[in-house]
Amino acid sequence: MNDAVIPLSRYPTNRLRLACRSCSRKGQYAKEDLIKRVGPDESLVILRLRIAAALGCELAKATLAGRSLLGAAQCGAYYPRLR
Ligand SMILES: [Zn+2]
Repeated sequence: MNDAVIPLSRYPTNRLRLACRSCSRKGQYAKEDLIKRVGPDESLVILRLRIAAALGCELAKATLAGRSLLGAAQCGAYYPRLR
């Protein structure tokens, strides 16, 4: 499954799991609550950065702010369930 094109509403289960390869952050979220917050059409790629940033990941914050440099470390947030 290519999460680049999948909106939040298409995430396969009611609980969305997120983990990060770069740091040890991970979390679980109710899909329903996330949809209320960001809307059903939010791209899963953007969403994982937003969640990682909210969890305190500096790399995710930099990426969202457009400050991440090519070749610099990227946030490794991903959805274990979509592998
Ligand atoms: Zn991270």
